[in-house]
Amino acid sequence: MGIVDAPPGTTLGERAGVIAAIAGIHAAAVDRDGRFPHEAIAALKHGRLLGAMLPVELGGEGANLAAIADICSTLGQHCASAGMVFAMHQIQVASLLLHAESGAFHRGFLARVAAEQMLLASATSEVGIGGDLRTSLCAVEVSGATYHLEKNASVISYGAQADAVLATARRHADSPPSDQVMVVALREHMHLERTTIWDVTGMRGTCSEGFRLRASGPADHVLPRLFAEIAARSMLATSHLLWAALWYGIAFAAVQRAQAFIKAETRKRPGDTPTGAIRVAEAASRLQMMKSMARDGLERYARAQESRDELTTMGFAVAMNNVKVATSRIAVDVVNTAMLVCGISGFKNDTPFSLVRHLRDVLSAQVMINNDRIFGNTATMLLVHRLDAQLVA
Ligand SMILES: Cc1cc2nc3c(=O)[nH]c(=O)nc-3n(C[C@H](O)[C@H](O)[C@H](O)COP(=O)(O)OP(=O)(O)OC[C@H]3O[C@@H](n4cnc5c(N)ncnc54)[C@H](O)[C@@H]3O)c2cc1C
Repeated sequence: MGIVDAPPGTTLGERAGVIAAIAGIHAAAVDRDGRFPHEAIAALKHGRLLGAMLPVELGGEGANLAAIADICSTLGQHCASAGMVFAMHQIQVASLLLHAESGAFHRGFLARVAAEQMLLASATSEVGIGGDLRTSLCAVEVSGATYHLEKNASVISYGAQADAVLATARRHADSPPSDQVMVVALREHMHLERTTIWDVTGMRGTCSEGFRLRASGPADHVLPRLFAEIAARSMLATSHLLWAALWYGIAFAAVQRAQAFIKAETRKRPGDTPTGAIRVAEAASRLQMMKSMARDGLERYARAQESRDELTTMGFAVAMNNVKVATSRIAVDVVNTAMLVCGISGFKNDTPFSLVRHLRDVLSAQVMINNDRIFGNTATMLLVHRLDAQLVA
């Protein structure tokens, strides 16, 4: 056992439920103060959930992506910021898992993530390139056994709290912008100078400030696989799927409040079905659409794990892009519909039916890698890729 002991005899889902309740208690303060959800993250560490996806031999529990997605959804129902921190951390873990067999540093680092419940952050966005994941301006320099990296990162969620940041950069100073690698910058090898604050509409607890990142460390902390492969085999799919799960959680919580509102109205006037009841039915059907898309995506991802070539096909990339853009749009629509049902009670901050935080949080979905950028990417693939004619298979 590492420094944190899991409560014995509890399943991942049971632990997630307890942690989500803790997250929920602090969610309003996290949002109001735009502060890191440290109670929820401490509880995730105590429950050993940060290493859950790692194999048992590295100190994890061998959880699959669907189990992690379920936790994202559970957390998202109570505190979207805590859920997003958890999701982003797991996306980094999934990228590192591709390297589990690559060498002493990588296996040792993954074992540390589980033992010490280290929190991992991401720096792909960069000043000058925006959200284009597959482009970097900065370059890593390797001299002898040491790497050096300086990156003007426009956004690093919970950068100030992370134990390591996985940063993209050009492979060397002469590389073109798309010839990228990923560097594991450990807290002890890195200096972060804050460049922007995070005064935003929603997801305020992710503390996604801008930083100038300067790091120097052992050269083997530059991941051996090219970032193109990490993105295609892991990062794009895991991001879209875990985010979709989280947005489902936010939307579910909103519909649950709308349903409770209608039930309360019905009790006040028995026999009289409130107008908003039909909107709850409408929102519930959209919620099911979200769930179906996310589950289909997760099943497709699980199947692709069995045949590694599938992960790099256009069909798979189009499917994952579609999960992201569709669920991010439907989630906003669902929360907005729930707001319409609850009326002024949903619009106000201080009622049991308030949906203000849900709406603000879920609005981040469409800009967290801008939907138009993803549509642009899908559009290019659809110039050559045939649509899937089969409903089942
Ligand atoms: C809550 C939250 C947390 C985040 N956390 C992190 C993090 O931890 N690490 C990280 O690296 N990033 C993070 N991000 C940043 C995120 O992943 C995107 O990089 C960022 O939201 C993109 O910002 P943008 O819309 O300005 O840029 P862009 O995506 O560049 O979009 C700008 C404009 O360009 C348009 N556009 C579309 N396609 C193209 C194209 N092909 N070429 C040029 N322009 C195009 C878009 O429609 C948009 O209008 C986070 C974002 C959010 C909302």
